[in-house]
Amino acid sequence: MKRIAIVGGGIAGLSAAFTLEKQNQSGVAVEYTLFESSSRFGGVLATEEVDGCQIEAGPDSFLTEKPWASDFCRRLGIGEQLVASNDADRKTYIVVKGRLVVIPDGLMFMVPTKILPTVFSPLFSLSTKLRMAREWFHPPRKAEGDETVASLVERHYGPEMVDRLADPLLSGVYGGGASELSARAALPRFTEMEAKYGSLGRGMLAARRKMAQAAKVARQPLFTALTGGMQAVADTAVSQLTASALRPNSLVQSVQPQGNGWVVSAGYASDHFDAVIIATPAHIAADLVEIASSALAAELRGVQYTSSITVNLGYAGNVRQMLPPGFGFLIPRSEGTRMMATTFVHTKFPHRAPPNRALLRCFIGGARNEALLDAPDDQILNIVQSELAQIIGLRAQPLFTRVYRWRRAMAQYPVGHLERLQRIETLLQQLPGLALAGNGYRGIGVPDCIRTGDGAAQKCLTALRLVAETSQTIVSTKLRERPARADSKR
Ligand SMILES: Cc1cc2nc3c(=O)[nH]c(=O)nc-3n(C[C@H](O)[C@H](O)[C@H](O)COP(=O)(O)OP(=O)(O)OC[C@H]3O[C@@H](n4cnc5c(N)ncnc54)[C@H](O)[C@@H]3O)c2cc1C
Repeated sequence: MKRIAIVGGGIAGLSAAFTLEKQNQSGVAVEYTLFESSSRFGGVLATEEVDGCQIEAGPDSFLTEKPWASDFCRRLGIGEQLVASNDADRKTYIVVKGRLVVIPDGLMFMVPTKILPTVFSPLFSLSTKLRMAREWFHPPRKAEGDETVASLVERHYGPEMVDRLADPLLSGVYGGGASELSARAALPRFTEMEAKYGSLGRGMLAARRKMAQAAKVARQPLFTALTGGMQAVADTAVSQLTASALRPNSLVQSVQPQGNGWVVSAGYASDHFDAVIIATPAHIAADLVEIASSALAAELRGVQYTSSITVNLGYAGNVRQMLPPGFGFLIPRSEGTRMMATTFVHTKFPHRAPPNRALLRCFIGGARNEALLDAPDDQILNIVQSELAQIIGLRAQPLFTRVYRWRRAMAQYPVGHLERLQRIETLLQQLPGLALAGNGYRGIGVPDCIRTGDGAAQKCLTALRLVAETSQTIVSTKLRERPARADSKR
């Protein structure tokens, strides 16, 4: 019987454990141990019930178009819990000079695909609209090499598009902005479209036409969540794993190669395994492999992370009428607020609040807000409430509040990230039996983390010659998902 250790019981580690559990049940000679430093599994997936409302402390949903999370839920047997965002009422605003301006219909991320709504939108100045028209004739890019998302977007649509759309949309996903993120890592489809078509607008329309012809599928909701809350995914996975394989409250200090295998040290105990999957944030993985390979540790340490805070505010039901219709708003950096986004949860996912409650979730993140992590709840709440009053005139007192801090939990993919992944892949080849999973590599959303967990488990099974070779490894799996619509935060 081969033994595999998994370090980190977030969704990536749980996905890896589930794959190994299924292999074991199907007769493959493998067992696993899942080490988690805290008392609960799920990592940043955490749901709380307060006053009849379902509060999501971390991720609140996932992008439907990335299939791995929904597939995982179906494999767990909780497919009937999947719930679509209430897209009939979808409308997202951008704060421009302190006022809400609706994102026009037809914007795919920042690429306009419908002429009239964009022409009449007050979100863009006349000069940006003229650039959008000229963009149609943009030549294919000859230059090789990476650039920031800001530079890509600015070349096509000018700086206003960066400030008003690209930056706030990316801040909601990564905490970092367009001027920090790599275009090739964060928006690979856009760089491919540019190389092929020149114009992103023409590329997007061609992609849409192809999809419409090939898929002939019903229109998918933008976001998917679970009626039982995001933590239901983690809880259900845990309930289907072998109880004796689970090690909560077990902080792993190091993983070191020994003989043909690996020694995992947690507390005062050390245990021998044939392979190890590290499914923690990359900066923690760096500490764990320091003795095994200081070169790998240095590369992993180079993967940058930002912190974030989610603030949930529950109000009396009459507050619903005081809010603009829609899912909420995003705030460009240039507005100078601490908040980066607010979601009207009761509209986006009606099951999360009873009719006599309004539920808001505000997001604070990025390097500029790092110091707020150490501020007391009261100070954070004061900031959020005064910014809500300033932006949407909301002065009602909440009935309850919840503040959640997530330290260095969101990976950033700056220019050079893909080259770093190549170096990590090369270094991993010298360490057989070691695999990485989680949000530090190729996709920070829940679906991608599930995919990398499964991929890491497959990689170990292959390395141990327990299953035939697959092409899935965390670094070589190339994403082919569709680009998101303008109001898709993840
Ligand atoms: C506030 C917030 C909102 C988000 N919103 C969304 C969203 O709406 N949609 C979306 O798709 N994605 C969202 N994301 C991103 C996504 O949720 C995460 O990227 C993903 O869940 C990370 O999963 P993971 O398993 O890689 O890491 P984690 O969830 O960080 O899990 C890592 C686990 O490893 C454990 N661990 C750490 N060190 C050790 C050690 N030494 N020994 C043992 N265990 C250890 C930790 O305790 C933790 O449980 C959000 C993230 C945050 C922080």
